[in-house]
Order: sequence, then structure tokens, then C-alpha cells
Amino acid sequence: MSSCYVLGNRVDPLTLAGAVARVTEFIRAGTPHHVVTLNAEIAYRAYCEPELQALINRAHLVTADGAGILWAARKLGTPLPERVTGIDLLQALAVAGARQGWRFYLYGAAPGVAEAAAARLQKEHPGLVVAGTSHGYLSSREIPGLIEAIKAARPHILLVGLGAPKQEYWIASHLEELQVPVAMGVGGSFDVLAGRVQRAPAWVQRLNLEWLYRVIQEPGRVKRTLALPKFMLVVLRQAHKRD
Ligand code: UDP
Repeated sequence: MSSCYVLGNRVDPLTLAGAVARVTEFIRAGTPHHVVTLNAEIAYRAYCEPELQALINRAHLVTADGAGILWAARKLGTPLPERVTGIDLLQALAVAGARQGWRFYLYGAAPGVAEAAAARLQKEHPGLVVAGTSHGYLSSREIPGLIEAIKAARPHILLVGLGAPKQEYWIASHLEELQVPVAMGVGGSFDVLAGRVQRAPAWVQRLNLEWLYRVIQEPGRVKRTLALPKFMLVVLRQAHKRD
């Protein structure tokens, strides 16, 4: 299946298992790779922000993070096989990584959260190796120290939880010097793993209402959610032009 483009952003047509296989290839290759899990909100932002769009289209793997991307791909005539969210991919990589001895580094979220997330992953996946953790509120003066710490820890997978698109910009600007085989933005996943934020129950996810659940939990998100109708409008306009 060839790549699909949603508002100019490349999305790779892979299942969750296919995405894990792709990441496994990246780790075997050993050279640096950037993984993006793209949701509708960021797809719309990148549509308006060429620098972000170029960065997404340069990434080595872009997955469909959420029902909005799947819906758009269908409307645009290039359907995708399934949703591959950041947290689902992270969990699936933890399963594969615990088996294969991959080293994980967790960078991001408030002080203490990445450690708690790491502890939870190690509890759920015995044998999983955590090469290091850092919180996501370092000053710019502290970043060179963080880079050195990550390089010294030599992780196979660097998980960056700074929220999108901050984490995507951060990865793109540091990937070459870090030389980690895989760097992936994971948004608020550390908060979910650490139990600070609840993920929507499966039935809410099935109804494609995860975004609403998150807004109710964190009302501050409502402004960001306004990107969704704009996203839908552009998709519908493009789909109409295609017909
Ligand atoms: N965050 C961070 N440093 C920052 C800004 C945000 O570590 O300078 C963290 C924040 O603590 C949270 C995550 O980034 O853990 C953002 O989560 P959110 O759910 O907003 O991201 P999304 O999943 O929507 O990309």
C-alpha cells in the first residue's frame, strides 16, 4: 500500500503490528529515525505551518493517531488499515522491547512522572530496560547536559513526551547529534502511564469521543479542540474537489 496524504501530511498505511515491525527494522539498522504519531489537531496545524509539515514528511514513520485521521483518509479515497495511537504503539514497543532487550529512555512530563511511567512499564513488562529518565521542564541551559546523558545511556528508543508539536521540533533538531535509532513523540502518554491522567474507557474510544473525554478532564484543552472542525472542513472541501 502506498502512503496516504492528509492535508499534505504523509501517513504510512500500517497496522499496529506493521508499525512495530518497521520500528524493529529501524533498530536493526541503527541509524537515527524519527517516528511521528499524527492526530487531526497536529495534521491541521501542520497544514497551516509549512515547517512542521516538512518535518512530518521527513519523518521515517508517521502513524494514524486517532479516528480523525482514519476518517479523513477514507474521505480522501486512500483508506488506512487502523488507528495506531502513540500510547498503543508505546505499549506494543514495550512488549517487543522487553523480549529483545531494547533500552528505553523517557524524556518529558513534570518532575517524577517519567520515573513513575518507567516503573509502570517495567512492572507490566518484566525485563524491560529503562536506560534513563528526565523531566520535560529543563531550561535551555540544561539541554546540553540532557543530550550528553541520553548519549551516554545509549537507548534504542527515546520516548519524548513534551506534547505535540514541541516534541516533534525537539526531536528533529537533536536527532542527528543523539544518534538514537528511534526517537518518538508520545505527547501526554507518561501522564497516562503514571496514572496522573485517565485514558478514556474503550467504549468512549469506540464512539470516537476520546477528544471529548480529554476536554472534560482538562478543560484547558478546549481551544485546541477547535482545530477539529477546521480540519474536517478542509478535508470535506478537498474530498469534494476530488469527486
Ligand atoms: N510537557 C513537558 N514540557 C513542556 C510542555 C509540556 O514535558 O515544556 C509535557 C506535559 O507535562 C505533558 C505533555 O508534555 O506530560 C503534554 O501532554 P498533552 O496531553 O498536552 O500532549 P498531546 O498528547 O496532546 O500531544
